[in-house]
Amino acid sequence: MLQDKDRIFTNIYGMHDRTLAGAKARGHWDGTKDLIGLGRDKIVEIMKASGLRGRGGAGFPTGLKWSFMPKESDGRPSYLVINADESEPGTCKDREIMRNDPHTLIEGALIASFAMGAHVSYIYIRGEYIREREALQAAIDEAYDAGLLGKNAAGSGFDFDLYLHHGAGAYICGEETALIESLEGKKGMPRMKPPFPAGAGLYGCPSTVNNVESIAVVPTILRRGADWFAGFGRPNNAGTKLFAISGHVNNPCVVEEAMSISFEELIEKHCGGIRGGWDNLLAVIPGGSSVPCVRGENMRDAIMDFDYLRNDLQSGLGTAAVIVMDKSTDIVKAIWRLSKFYKHESCGQCTPCREGTGWMMRVMDRLVRGEAELEEIDMLFQVTKQVEGHTICALGDAAAWPIQGLIRNFRDEIEDRIKAQKAGRVSAVAAE
Ligand code: SF4
Repeated sequence: MLQDKDRIFTNIYGMHDRTLAGAKARGHWDGTKDLIGLGRDKIVEIMKASGLRGRGGAGFPTGLKWSFMPKESDGRPSYLVINADESEPGTCKDREIMRNDPHTLIEGALIASFAMGAHVSYIYIRGEYIREREALQAAIDEAYDAGLLGKNAAGSGFDFDLYLHHGAGAYICGEETALIESLEGKKGMPRMKPPFPAGAGLYGCPSTVNNVESIAVVPTILRRGADWFAGFGRPNNAGTKLFAISGHVNNPCVVEEAMSISFEELIEKHCGGIRGGWDNLLAVIPGGSSVPCVRGENMRDAIMDFDYLRNDLQSGLGTAAVIVMDKSTDIVKAIWRLSKFYKHESCGQCTPCREGTGWMMRVMDRLVRGEAELEEIDMLFQVTKQVEGHTICALGDAAAWPIQGLIRNFRDEIEDRIKAQKAGRVSAVAAE
């Protein structure tokens, strides 16, 4: 289990002082000027060596992403855009940083922006996060008053402004290019890539979009060293990570743990076990609603990191939002609910997503009640394959994968329901 001395987030539960004075007492903003003094190249080098992979779901190496930003300006400014849109069902980790430990993010924003030559950074916060916005804005104001932001930020000689922008509550604005569009004042619709944001992002200028957690861990990594961070987790899956465990565990929680912790340890140590015991575990969605679900019996020994969940279980770590479902769950209905969500959130720009999410939801609708033919299960799977990888942004994949996970893992459940409906054994149909 991760020891307290190795936790980056020391106030994730809001038990301590969240103001600047409290943050400083816990070691934040300590020698920030010297960290910036390391220089741009050195900071990027340390971030690469730390092995940090983006915490927003995709898991792209953070240091490498930073290195795509231009070294010399061609006259255009560079921007760091921080994605605080956290809207994936099940994901609730960044909000704890913003409301309880906001200075980790603000200090990280300064250092990361310096490393990318960005004198301005925007934090795009989810529309529903009102308290989080208030807490974060109060912390930004404090940092300005203390000279940690603005001209000669933290005495480093680097001028830096940080703005907090409040979204209007659309899930798709968590997609990096839709977020940029929205920040520019337009409808939040994803852009075709390329060009990638590092070439032409916000206002057509070089930009990097990073998740809140990815930025908030930066100062501690620099203070404690790349080797310290890389010492947690298996190779290629380094570091500590916030896990957000919800659903049918005895104590749902957000907790910072070492990567590659086993699922069983995570649940037993921090969540008080599965409701009704391990034999009562039906399924787990290990990385936020867009990754495929996994059968309970395959999860117990699972290693909670990017590579294991993808390669061994055909799922993903995503944002490490772990949704636990016990045997009281109607799994078909649970996945139907996700289909409804993605249909609702599709921006409608590309046909496979706009039409496909509706088709998939309507078939799922009938599967819940068992009012379908057995052949339709394969047909639905085929439709998910036609949507996956054929859209402008990843929402198409996000809509397809939960259904694929359901069919791969719980085909028997779907078939039973169809057969029960045909045989008139309606009592066997769990859902209304
Ligand atoms: Fe919009 Fe869906 Fe296309 Fe993404 S995949 S751009 S959400 S229509």
